[in-house]
Amino acid sequence: MPTDLPRDAAGWRALAQAFADRRVTPLSEAIDRRDRIPDEVLADLRRSGFFGLGVPLSWNGSGGDTRSMVAVLEELAHASAAVAVELAVHLSVCAAPILEWGTDAQRERFLRPLAGGELVGAFGLTEPGAGSDTASLATRYDRTDAGFVLRGTKMFTSNAVSAGVILVFATRDPALGHRGISGFIVPPGAPGFSVSQRLDKLGLRGSETTELVLDGVRLPSDAMLGPEGAGLKVALGALTGGRVGIASCALGVARAAFETMLAAAGEEVDDWKRAAVARAFAELAGARALVDRAAERKDAGAPYALDASVAKLAASRAAVSIASAGIEVAGPASTRTGRAAERLFRDARVFPIVEGTTEIQELILGRELLTSGRAENP
Ligand SMILES: Cc1cc2nc3c(=O)[nH]c(=O)nc-3n(C[C@H](O)[C@H](O)[C@H](O)COP(=O)(O)OP(=O)(O)OC[C@H]3O[C@@H](n4cnc5c(N)ncnc54)[C@H](O)[C@@H]3O)c2cc1C
Repeated sequence: MPTDLPRDAAGWRALAQAFADRRVTPLSEAIDRRDRIPDEVLADLRRSGFFGLGVPLSWNGSGGDTRSMVAVLEELAHASAAVAVELAVHLSVCAAPILEWGTDAQRERFLRPLAGGELVGAFGLTEPGAGSDTASLATRYDRTDAGFVLRGTKMFTSNAVSAGVILVFATRDPALGHRGISGFIVPPGAPGFSVSQRLDKLGLRGSETTELVLDGVRLPSDAMLGPEGAGLKVALGALTGGRVGIASCALGVARAAFETMLAAAGEEVDDWKRAAVARAFAELAGARALVDRAAERKDAGAPYALDASVAKLAASRAAVSIASAGIEVAGPASTRTGRAAERLFRDARVFPIVEGTTEIQELILGRELLTSGRAENP
């Protein structure tokens, strides 16, 4: 862990930009083509201090607020969406909930090495039959004399191949709905745990997306994260914070797509290309303002679920729209494999899905607007 870590978001942005320029940008195309982040890049990332962002120094973290995290994720995603998402998942939906809900013993054992980059974090909520409808989980847990035993399958778990800690959500009895769900801290070495497949996918290639099998995984009695039955509260709280991070990653991709479009447009451009560039600029600026607002509200301790959903909606839409328009501006040659515009187009398409789809953000937004009174003050 470096000893001279930045003190503010501008410092973190500069550090991430320098890291991205030196270690990630030269490899972004290879990461996508080989569907792997090279071990040495991950090792450098883990030593950089980024893995401890948002975790207090007293827990071996790097400090830094949400604005700092947003800046780092945007800069990394600008270079490689896969690298940024690896960090976003680790920080927002593994380290943050352990910081918030863990006992001191759990923080000592798991948060400390996560924050120091010795362990990578993952989050296993989605299942083959349960995605948006999180309360319908089928992974079961039973109590035993020694602790718990978990059985089930998790789908689309990011980071799981390299993870040293996975938060897994399971139900005591599906008939109990959300009240039956609890969270568990699972070390992947536990007997009965396996990564059954690594999924080959459209975008975010390089980011490990996996299916996990929990075949009678035995856990000690102190493996539960948070109170019994509060698992969905733990998971959904983590995902609310996670949406600010994912929105920042989408923003980084949108910015890279915008720059690619500008370079393709050149100076002597047709009116329709000028209009496409102007539209993209407005979408990017709007998304940036909304991501910043969500981060500022989170840092200020204000309610921010609505802002996180708006930011994720806007940034993922901007990424898809700008990456798509970029292909039109650059012309058919830009659709060839190996072109930045083509990779960014595929990467962008994943953001409306991860950590809550666009339709689910709209449901959250509708609910928050009707209950928070903020509909009058957008
Ligand atoms: C690259 C990648 C990485 C991921 N990483 C993780 C991870 O680390 N951990 C994890 O737990 N999950 C992860 N996921 C899973 C992701 O969060 C889910 O894919 C997502 O929540 C949607 O769930 P689903 O795929 O089951 O789709 P479904 O829930 O089946 O939805 C299918 C479609 O129906 C729509 N829909 C569903 N319900 C409603 C409704 N009530 N109203 C309107 N429309 C609706 C959805 O918006 C979507 O368009 C990842 C996914 C991807 C693609």
